[in-house]
Amino acid sequence: MAKDVLCEVNSCAYNINSENKCGATQIYIVNNKKDDASTSSETDCKTFEPADL
Ligand code: SF4
Repeated sequence: MAKDVLCEVNSCAYNINSENKCGATQIYIVNNKKDDASTSSETDCKTFEPADL
């Protein structure tokens, strides 16, 4: 299980105080390509929720 998830998506509602730390209980990462991902850029966080900026 991942702990202390670091994330620079500061526009996400789960990002704690915009300090590059994820506060979600769970995160769901998806493959954003039809074929199996082979680089990190081919994955995305589906748990993302837009923050009230
Ligand atoms: S839910 Fe995803 S995008 Fe949002 S802070 Fe956590 S890891 Fe980042």
